[in-house]
Amino acid sequence: MATYDDAQQNRVQVLRGIIIGRWFLIIGLGVLGVVHTIADIALISLQPRQFLYLFAVPIVYNSVYTIILQRPSEKLSPGLLRVLSFLQVALDQILFTFVIYFTGGVESVGFILYFFPVLAATVLYSDIQIITLAILNIAWYSMLITFEYARVIPHYARFSDDIALFGNAEATLANTMSVNLILLFTAMFAVFVNRIIHQREFEITIERDKVRTILNSLEDGIIMLDQRGRVLLMNPPARDLLRLYGHFEGPKLHVHDFPDTYAAVISAINAQTEKKLFGQEVLLNDGENQYHIEVDSIPILATDGHPVGWVKVLHDVTREKELDEIKSDFISVAAHQLRTPLAALKWFFKIMQDGDAGRVTKRQKELLEQAYDRNNEVIEIVNNLLDISEIEEGRFPYDFEEGTIQETVDHVLEAAKSEAQRRDITVAFDKQVDELPVISMDKQKIRMAIQNLVDNAVKYSPKGETVTVTAGIKNNRLMVTVSDTGIGIPKDEQKQIFSKFFRGHNAKEWATTGSGLGLYIVKNIVQKHRGQIWFESKQNQGTTFYLSFPIREQ
Ligand code: ADP
Repeated sequence: MATYDDAQQNRVQVLRGIIIGRWFLIIGLGVLGVVHTIADIALISLQPRQFLYLFAVPIVYNSVYTIILQRPSEKLSPGLLRVLSFLQVALDQILFTFVIYFTGGVESVGFILYFFPVLAATVLYSDIQIITLAILNIAWYSMLITFEYARVIPHYARFSDDIALFGNAEATLANTMSVNLILLFTAMFAVFVNRIIHQREFEITIERDKVRTILNSLEDGIIMLDQRGRVLLMNPPARDLLRLYGHFEGPKLHVHDFPDTYAAVISAINAQTEKKLFGQEVLLNDGENQYHIEVDSIPILATDGHPVGWVKVLHDVTREKELDEIKSDFISVAAHQLRTPLAALKWFFKIMQDGDAGRVTKRQKELLEQAYDRNNEVIEIVNNLLDISEIEEGRFPYDFEEGTIQETVDHVLEAAKSEAQRRDITVAFDKQVDELPVISMDKQKIRMAIQNLVDNAVKYSPKGETVTVTAGIKNNRLMVTVSDTGIGIPKDEQKQIFSKFFRGHNAKEWATTGSGLGLYIVKNIVQKHRGQIWFESKQNQGTTFYLSFPIREQ
C-alpha cells in the first residue's frame, strides 16, 4: 500500500513543479507585454499601471507559495496542501480573466492562458473537479464577455483600428461559444490524460509496493543508494542494524554521524564499487554486542556500463561465526585429546603383534593386525580433523620452496604400493616431459594432496584395475592428473565433493571407512599454491582429478 507519506510527498512535488512552471509563465508574459508595448503593435489600452498590477500580483502569490513549499514536506499539513492545491487553480483563473479583460476582452487571445490552470488541475484534481473547474472557467469568461458587451464594464480595445468584433452580437457569440467549447473539450481531454496518469501511477505504486513488501520481509538488510550515495531505500533489518528509526530515506550516510565502531560498516555501505563485491566482512559493535556483518555491494549499471546506484545487502553472520568457532574449538580439542591415547594404542598393538609382550597365536596376530590398521585409520581421521581446524583458524603452516614434484610423486607411489598390491591394483606414473618444471611449493603439503588423490583412486577401484598418475605441462602450467577406472562419482553429488565431511553414497557402500575430509584439505592445499583442482567422473566408469600449478617464471 502507498503510504500516507508517499502521497503527501508526491503532492508537494507536483505543487513545486507547478510553481516553477508559473515562474516561467510570468516571465514569458512579462517579456511579451514589454515587447508589445515597446513595439507599440497592440495592447494599446493596457496602461503601465494595469500592466504592473497584472505582473506583480502573480509574482506576489507565487512567491508566497514558494516560501510555504520550501519547508520540508513532512512539516506541511494535509489541510494546508489542500488549500494550496485549490488556490493554484482558482487565483490563476481570476488573474487570467483580468488579463483577458485588459487586453481586449472579446478581442483578446488571452483565453489561451486558461489552459495553464487546466493543466495544473490535470495533475492535482480528480475527474469531476477538472470538469467543475472548466465550467467555472467558462462562467468567468462568459460573464466577462457579457458584462463587456452590455457595457456594464468598459471595453479596452486590443487594436488601435477597430476590428469590428466588439459590439458585434453575432461575432461575439460565435467567439465566446468557440472559446467555451475549446475549454470544455480541453477539460475532457485532461480528464482522459488524468486517467492514464493515475493508471500509470497506480501500476508504479503497486510495483514499488511489491518490491518494498519483498524487501521488508527479507531478513537481510537492504540499502539502495543513488549515484551520489544518497539512500533511496532502506528496509527494516538494515535500519535495525544501524539503529536508524523514523523517516530516513534521502540523505547520505556519513561516518561521523555514527559511533566510531560503525565506521567499517558505513564505509562498506558507502563504497562505490565498480564491480559486484560479495561477502566483505566487517565488525560492528553497538556498545552491548559485537556483530559480524557481511556486506555485498551490487552496482546498478546504466546502459553504458557506469554505476548509477548500488544495492547493499547486509547479512548478519554473527551466529554462524559463533557456531563455526564452537565447532572448530570442539574438533580441535577432541582431536588433540584423542591423538595421544591413539598413538599409545598403536604402540601397544605393535608390541603385542611383534610378540614382545608374550607369545601370540596366529589368530591373535591376525586380530592384532586388524586392530593396528583400524587404529591407523582413526589416527588418519584425527590428523585430518586437526588439519581442518588449523586450516579454518588460518594456522595451517606452509613452508614454500622451489623444486619439481618428481621426488614427491616417487614418494607417493612408493607409499601407495603396499595398499595397492593388497587390492591387486597397479599404480603407474606417466611422466609426459623429460624435465618436470620448477614450481613454488610446500613439499610436504603437495605430497599430502597427491597422496590423498592416489589413495582415493586405489580405494575406490575394483581389483585388477590400474591407477595412473601423469605429470606434464599444459598452457604453461604444471598439470598433474590422477585417474582411475573405479566406481566414479554420481553426477548429482559432484558439486558437493569438495565439501567438508561429504562422502558419495556409492563410496559409502564401497568402503565403509572414510571421513570425507580428504578432498576438502586437498583443495585448500592446491589453492594455497595458486593452483586449480577439478575433476571429470562417470559413475561406474572412473574418475580423473586434475591439478594445475603456476610454473616459476624463468
Ligand atoms: P573419503 O575418501 O574419506 O570419503 P574424500 O574427501 O577423500 O573423503 O572424498 C570425498 C568423496 O569423494 C568420497 O567419499 C567419494 O564419494 C568421492 N571420491 C573421491 N575420490 C574418488 C574417486 N577416485 N573415485 C570415486 N569417488 C571418489
